[in-house]
Formats: sequence, C-alpha cells, structure tokens
Amino acid sequence: CGIVAYIGHREACPIILKGLHRLEYRGYDSAGVALLDGEELTVYKKKGKVAELEGFIAEKNTRANIGMGHTRWATHGEPNDVNAHPHYSTSERIAIIHNGIIENYAALKEHLQQQGHVFHSDTDTEVFVNLIEEIQKKNQGSLEQAVRLALHEVVGAYAIVVLSKDNPGQLIAARKGSPLVVGIGENEFFLASDATPIIEYTSDVVYVNDYELVVIRDGEMDLRSREDVKQTPYIQKLELEL
Ligand code: GLU
Repeated sequence: CGIVAYIGHREACPIILKGLHRLEYRGYDSAGVALLDGEELTVYKKKGKVAELEGFIAEKNTRANIGMGHTRWATHGEPNDVNAHPHYSTSERIAIIHNGIIENYAALKEHLQQQGHVFHSDTDTEVFVNLIEEIQKKNQGSLEQAVRLALHEVVGAYAIVVLSKDNPGQLIAARKGSPLVVGIGENEFFLASDATPIIEYTSDVVYVNDYELVVIRDGEMDLRSREDVKQTPYIQKLELEL
C-alpha cells in the first residue's frame, strides 16, 4: 500500500528501504524492491515486514542508483512471496510496482495468455506489466508510449512505477486514484505515495495528478497527460516537521 522510488547519484536501496519504513503506518502484508544497475534488473521480495525484506537482501548485491520499493496490501491473491511486488513481465525485461486495483484484469489476462504471456502470481498487477510488454512488442515503440497506451486500457485505480532493462537510466510513473508525489533534488528524484519518505532529502515536490505520466531520465523530469500533452509541473514547497 506504499510506493517509494529513487533515481540519481546515490545508492538507491537504502533510500528506498528507509522510505518503506516511513510508509509502514499505512499498513501492508509484504514488501519488495527492484533495482536497475545498468541493464541489470533485479527483484527481491518477501511476505511480511520491511525488516524481513531487509534481512533477506542483507547478503545480496544491491548496488544501483535507480530503484523502486513497494509495500503491499493484498487485494487480488493472498499475501505470499510470489504475489508480493515488484512483478516482472513475462520476458523479465520490465518490472512494475502498483498500488490500487485493476478492475478489468481478468479479461486482459485471458487476452494476454492467448498472446503467450505467462503469469506466476494471482495479482491484477502482473496483468498491467504484461500489457505494457505486449503493447511495446506490437508497436515496436518506446516504453513510455507503451505505458501510456496501457493506461488507456486498464480500468481501476493505480499508482505505478515501471523500470526496464532496455531503458537503463529511466524511470516511468503514473497515477489515477492512488496518490503519487515526486521529490525534486539536485540531479536526483524521489517518488513516493506521500511526502514522508522524501522530506529529509528535498522540500521541492510535485503532486502528480490523475491521468498524468512522469518520465525521469538524464536528470530531467517530463510530465505528460495520458494524451501525451506536455504539462508544466507545479512545484510546491514542503513545510513538514521531521
Ligand atoms: N492490487 C494489487 C495487489 O493485490 C496492489 C495492492 C496494493 O495496493 O498494495 O497486489
């Protein structure tokens, strides 16, 4: 039920884990992270507390300057390691985290299975990431375009973050219904469900609106509508007490 992501010059994993702790008050049953180091995309996830995830990855390689983390409040599929986020696409080239519910996931899943996509979890979320992969395969277009087109096909609520090994150095996010905040630092960006994971790094934030898509790459943020119209981000100053 919480999202944190980072792209910049620092180690992503400690920032993400700390952020997930700050979102713990929202409640959750499992937690996970995805890290993008060059073209290497790695997912670690576990049922249970963030502390359990931390124990699980303590001995693992978590080196990366781009990453995302998730705490799950199960709506589709019981709380277990497989249903925990992030979820890979069938090719394992794309990963997603998602807060919310995709209401038309069953129809989309059936269609995607017919196209050869393989599902491991019982979640609605795994349908979202495979839909993105299918659209990109069909259109031979950019990941950004595939995400945007996928947003037109899903019904429901979402805040998502997407990473792809074919797009190193890039992070894509979008929302409808579920909250999403971008923190703007110096050559670094933070994303989260609320400002609590961000406030210690920067006070400049943009609250993403419904049907908006955020692409962060080359130290810049591009904000667009679902119709691909460039939006001017409204940067607010946080005045929260730590
Ligand atoms: N519907 C998704 C799931 O059940 C996301 C739940 C959430 O918002 O944490 O996995």
